[in-house]
Amino acid sequence: MTTPLTCRNYINGHWLSAQSGATLESRNPADWRSLVATFPRSLTADVDAAVVAARRAYLSWRLVPAPARAELIYRVSELLLQHKEELAQLISQEMGKPLTEARGDVQEGIDCALYSAGEGRRLFGQTTPSEMPNKFAMTVRMPVGVCALISPWNFPVAIPCWKALPALVCGNTVILKPAEDTPACATFLVQIFQEAGFKEGVINLVHGLGEEVGRALVEHPGIDLVSFTGSSETGASVGATCGRTHKRVCLEMGGKNAQVVMEDANLELALVGALWGAFGTAGQRCTATSRLILHRDIKDKFTAMLIERTSKLRLGSGSDPLTEVGPLVNSAQLQRVSHYLEIAHTEGASVLIGGQIAKLEELKHGYFFQPTILDISPDTRIAREEIFGPVVALIEVSSFEEAIAVLNDTPYGLSSSVYTRDVNRAFQAMRDIEAGITYINGPTIGAEVHLPFGGVKQTGNGHREAGTTALDVFTEWKSVYVDFSGSLQRAQIDNRA
Ligand code: NAD
Repeated sequence: MTTPLTCRNYINGHWLSAQSGATLESRNPADWRSLVATFPRSLTADVDAAVVAARRAYLSWRLVPAPARAELIYRVSELLLQHKEELAQLISQEMGKPLTEARGDVQEGIDCALYSAGEGRRLFGQTTPSEMPNKFAMTVRMPVGVCALISPWNFPVAIPCWKALPALVCGNTVILKPAEDTPACATFLVQIFQEAGFKEGVINLVHGLGEEVGRALVEHPGIDLVSFTGSSETGASVGATCGRTHKRVCLEMGGKNAQVVMEDANLELALVGALWGAFGTAGQRCTATSRLILHRDIKDKFTAMLIERTSKLRLGSGSDPLTEVGPLVNSAQLQRVSHYLEIAHTEGASVLIGGQIAKLEELKHGYFFQPTILDISPDTRIAREEIFGPVVALIEVSSFEEAIAVLNDTPYGLSSSVYTRDVNRAFQAMRDIEAGITYINGPTIGAEVHLPFGGVKQTGNGHREAGTTALDVFTEWKSVYVDFSGSLQRAQIDNRA
């Protein structure tokens, strides 16, 4: 057992305890007897201090040329690469995902740093002709101000990077509020930012409970923008507060993603996609495959293949290189998934495999749930609500049109996937699926950082993170007119007879 880490807030370039002195604990979900870290239980006073620091730093940071800001971000990519293995080990220990996936989590942060650093030499605006002579017109991007970045635990490095790096290259200062399950990962990441050379106050970190420190940040009048990733319930309340207090808000929330397998699909390809999509990160991805919509002609064959491969998945600690499915992140998640299995039983679902808390002796101190396959009808809660665990529901359909209708029949719209060899169906799917992301012949997970990321309906509020669209979250547009005629030129009037 390793020595527990002592995490602190990072405010104005100093590592500090909560002003109240109160602390919380982060434990290894594969073995809750193992304490990973203690961290501050911050309250309003700590948020106030972080906001003062970020507001002060904003005055000078926004004036640093974007290419110079980008050089620090590039340095973050180098440091993340240097510490990749160490950080991946910590991710596995603190939130449970297998090491290979944890390395991917860090790699996504590296990719995002490289991409965001490149944006420092772009941040393009437009020039456009004026309707008046001797007048110049253009648009420029301006930073928004102080950004509160509220992140979940399932990608404890990638998601804070998606938020912080574009925000910083655009000239904003930031306050990161990580999930209470992954404070050590956030602390490691902010140490990397510190080492990269960001001046005091440009990046700040406040740990604590969502209902306390998260809420205080969202309500704080000194915050200009809230970028939130988490559940739709919390996002609704964050969005309401931001509406009331006139803050810009970017919400990335839940999903109920589906993979369609048509009768002409390559079934082996669809099978490996389904296993990865449904059981990767123990189903705790916003883009996880939660429904498999199967054409009736291949359903029996595909289901048998899926059960056979699922029965062989190896559960264990994320730190064990042989582990394929890790634990759920905490006991609340374990209870949530167990509760959904009770709902499945009352709704008449057939449990084809799994369905219970894992029983193996060596897993008894962790939050392990068996990889589970249910057969259900599409009008059930199981088919429509986010479970966020290693549970996938099979739904039979008779046509492509029915498959798309079933896929769209949820309140969410994040990721989607269709396996078919018919190019016409592929293009129909791209056109008709109501989701922010569609994969053809690939699983519902696998987003890349240079494309927009986000969803429609109750998954998002119209913004997209990653890609150049992240710049639209973290900048305001200004239109600039320069009149060099030396006289008053009245638009829409003086250039008309
Ligand atoms: P959560 O909503 O419980 O918490 C997310 C973050 O919000 C945490 O940092 C938490 O401390 C904070 N928070 C909680 N209450 C708050 C409040 N009242 N005010 C301000 N902040 C508050 O979600 P979670 O359980 O950590 O994450 C799982 C959820 O996140 C799932 O629904 C998943 O689909 C979603 N998610 C979405 C995406 C996406 O990009 N769409 C990515 C990852 C996870």
